[in-house]
Amino acid sequence: MWSRYVPTNTGLLDHRLEIMSNGDYYETLGVGRNASDDEIKGAFRKLARQYHPDVNKDHDAEEKFKEINEAYGVLSDREKRARYDRFGKAGLGNTGGFHDYTEDFGDIFEDLLRGFGFSTGRGSRRSPRRGRDLQMQVALTFEEAVFGVEKEIEFQREETCSRCDGSGAEPGTSPVRCSTCQGQGEVRQVRQTFLGQMVQTAPCPTCNGRGETISSPCKTCHGNGLERKTIKKKVQIPAGVDGGTQIRLAGEGGPGVYGGPNGSLFIVLDVRPHKFFKRRENDIILNLDINVAQAVLGAEIEVPTLDGDEKLKIPAGTQPGKVFHLKSKGVPYLRRSGRGEQLVIVNVALPTKLTKEQRELFEKLAESLGTTVKPQEKGFLDWLNEALGG
Ligand code: ZN
Repeated sequence: MWSRYVPTNTGLLDHRLEIMSNGDYYETLGVGRNASDDEIKGAFRKLARQYHPDVNKDHDAEEKFKEINEAYGVLSDREKRARYDRFGKAGLGNTGGFHDYTEDFGDIFEDLLRGFGFSTGRGSRRSPRRGRDLQMQVALTFEEAVFGVEKEIEFQREETCSRCDGSGAEPGTSPVRCSTCQGQGEVRQVRQTFLGQMVQTAPCPTCNGRGETISSPCKTCHGNGLERKTIKKKVQIPAGVDGGTQIRLAGEGGPGVYGGPNGSLFIVLDVRPHKFFKRRENDIILNLDINVAQAVLGAEIEVPTLDGDEKLKIPAGTQPGKVFHLKSKGVPYLRRSGRGEQLVIVNVALPTKLTKEQRELFEKLAESLGTTVKPQEKGFLDWLNEALGG
């Protein structure tokens, strides 16, 4: 049930990234106060394409689309814009800024059709659609990722509204046939182009292609048929996962439309670093300081592993950089049995502070070892060249 691949941005918690409008028309359209008519029109068309309820099935898209529409209605009208600039919304009077978008409708739909390759037949609009995917991040400790863990997650999801069973109509009422499209769900437009007359069909703007309108919207979902719910769930995180691993819970995403399947919930794992263990795929790397006497004389020491302390024999004459392999002390493999190994990389830590007694011992040692230095026959670079075949 899990899968592992590079993170995608499918539905990356869109609701958290949402930019809330404060109602300023210029900010709604994302233009400056000195924007030209063309800039305003361009911004409007761009946003309308993005938020048009026919394209964007987000919970808040319709509301956002209305805001965009309202802002454009005011800013595209020279007189209304001047009043808005001087007096704000109060200057617009009761009519507010509501804009009937039918005159821009053709333009927007041309864009929509071009941009999305939309087929606008009524059938396709009612065809089953998969619900949207959701994504959330879950933090794990280093050990939880290595050994697996059961986590309780909590997330928000839109579900079919329980009050109206998704119809959007207040219980006891039912949707009525849309009067704009006579229940067809689409409208026809005849346009003159240089190629001659062109007939286009587009989803009905009144009912968004549903063919029916709701006169008494459901009090819970305000007519969109969806209800936001907080879901708590236990998830089994398998042993051996790593940061960036995604776990897909099929069917736990947003609800499907017209009988389509639900979307998926993707859990992206974020693994906190360990104090001293580092991970390389399924191996654990531990850098370990031993002292000069242990390196020279050899020693039996205990090193930490994920399974507790392990005995490790340091042979006499161990050089800095020596790597010891502790088999099967690494991370369990996700897709097969067995575990990686733990690599213990030994560093010989030379003392920087000595007691009087240690100093005397080192002085004796210095006398005994003498002052001759010996050039290395083979240095690190020679070794590297040989290793690389140079
Ligand atoms: Zn409802």
